[in-house]
Amino acid sequence: MSENHYDVIIIGTGAGGGTLAYHLAPSGKRILILERGDYVPREKANWDPQVVNVDAHYNTTESWLDKDGKELHPHTNYYVGGNTKFYGAALFRLRKEDFGELHHHGGISPAWPISYDDLEPYYTQAENLYHVHGNRGEDPTEPPANSPYPWPAVSHEPRIQQLSDDFTRFGLKPFHVPVGVMLDEKNPHKSRCIRCNTCDGFACLVGAKSDAQVVCIDEAIKHSNVTLLTNSLVKRLDTDASGREVKRVVVERNGVAESYSADVLVVSCGAINSAALLLRSANDRHPRGLANSSDVVGRHYMGHTNSVMMAISKCPNPTIFQKTLGVNDYYFGSKDFEYPMGHISFVGKLDAITLKAGAPAIAPNFTLELMARHSLDFWLTSEDLPDPNNRVTIGRDGKIVLTYTPNNLEAHERLKSKLKQAMKQTNCTMHGHECHQGLFGRNLYVGQRIPLAGVAHQNGTIRFGHDPKTSVLDPSCKAHEVDNLYVVDGSFFPSSAAVNPALTIMANALRVGDHLMKRLGVPIRTMSKTYDRIRKLP
Ligand SMILES: Cc1cc2nc3c(=O)[nH]c(=O)nc-3n(C[C@H](O)[C@H](O)[C@H](O)COP(=O)(O)OP(=O)(O)OC[C@H]3O[C@@H](n4cnc5c(N)ncnc54)[C@H](O)[C@@H]3O)c2cc1C
Ligand code: SF4
Repeated sequence: MSENHYDVIIIGTGAGGGTLAYHLAPSGKRILILERGDYVPREKANWDPQVVNVDAHYNTTESWLDKDGKELHPHTNYYVGGNTKFYGAALFRLRKEDFGELHHHGGISPAWPISYDDLEPYYTQAENLYHVHGNRGEDPTEPPANSPYPWPAVSHEPRIQQLSDDFTRFGLKPFHVPVGVMLDEKNPHKSRCIRCNTCDGFACLVGAKSDAQVVCIDEAIKHSNVTLLTNSLVKRLDTDASGREVKRVVVERNGVAESYSADVLVVSCGAINSAALLLRSANDRHPRGLANSSDVVGRHYMGHTNSVMMAISKCPNPTIFQKTLGVNDYYFGSKDFEYPMGHISFVGKLDAITLKAGAPAIAPNFTLELMARHSLDFWLTSEDLPDPNNRVTIGRDGKIVLTYTPNNLEAHERLKSKLKQAMKQTNCTMHGHECHQGLFGRNLYVGQRIPLAGVAHQNGTIRFGHDPKTSVLDPSCKAHEVDNLYVVDGSFFPSSAAVNPALTIMANALRVGDHLMKRLGVPIRTMSKTYDRIRKLP
């Protein structure tokens, strides 16, 4: 057997690939991880809003095209750990109902081929692995869980606690957002996380964010059977003559062409790049792209309808770590609107430097500095529905083309109105109802357009399902048409739900990991023991 042959090759080290690598590493199987990026350099600039948010220094410089052939610069990152290096680490389970068919104002959100109960044990493992801090029982839409969060919720700072009290008085059920940071509030002197204001959108300089590099890849490569090759861009996958098996992985490593092979091949490049890779791997047996006789690869792209809404109050908001409060009361609808609206939480605290680049509407009599000092910076997410015409294709010069028409927008508008209504009821002890000045939309993606360039929540392009005519992957995330090809990033989602996607990608990677262990003849370890151990780590 050639030196370049492995039992398993995993392409991509983000939420999906990184988690799977961690899970399979103790199996003793020869595992190769291929990552197009390098490590995020550890430097002071990691926490510099000018460098990160204005200069977009860590974003890819790659350009894609929109449906009109116009260039767009995606807000995405190619590093060991993938987009989890920069994520806000809000780690939500989908709601139990999200796995069934849901009727939205804009159409149908389809059912998944697995149920919430199938994924529940893996959600628990993922929460333990990624140090999720939360309080069960607060979120009114929370699905049932078989164990508590491994860590207590990150506390609200006073301004957010005040808002939480106001919302409660108004009749809402605000809750603590589950977050994956290694914060130990009881033992601050030992805490790896220092609770800083540069978390969401920034890489953690002190390695205290639960990202896929720190939590998974660093651990996986301690096993001698695991090899990580960085700066290794996978260009295409070649099959054998029958088309039933991937035989060759063609890689450009540091600019030099190489090839590798494996018994099992797992693609986890993120929903857009994974679809692009399959499409670029077209051959005689797969003329529309690998595993794509259904013509589903690349279609049904979803990325959520997201807004950042700044609520400017007369009271200052000196909060440092703002991403602690969520509201899901409107997730499935309300008395006056029977359809799902979505989820309300926060982004990291915005500052004047970031605002300068984002060009928000300015509140009367406010400068940007003053706005930043007084703003509550909400993050609103509504579900976008899978439309086959919203898709990834390959265009001129082999560039990615992202075609997207937003849908289900009424739900999002309603959600914004609900937030406005709730904010009017805030009852400040200094200014009463007059404290709150209004809500202002802000373009989070500096110098770039929402929604197209804002691909942070990309999913859906290689959906799983029972029917090979309407899905690419089977319920175990193996391609219907290729016997050794799996996909474990956000591509597999048949619907996008309206909470952040990463925990579901991680949990699913663990689920697929168990399936692969069986396939490879490895006895599945008593995972509960492994994950209990992780839970006790400082
Ligand atoms: C600023 C920001 C904030 C976010 N906040 C949250 C949050 O709070 N909560 C949440 O749930 N989600 C959040 N997300 C989204 C979350 O990060 C993603 O859902 C998640 O990382 C997706 O995981 P993935 O495995 O699908 O892909 P990724 O994490 O993107 O990993 C894909 C990997 O594949 C590599 N790759 C791509 N193409 C190739 C190729 N051809 N060859 C080799 N390697 C390749 C990439 O470099 C990357 O490492 C956020 C994202 C961003 C950008
Ligand atoms: S120290 Fe804590 S709050 Fe700051 S970036 Fe790291 S994980 Fe986030």
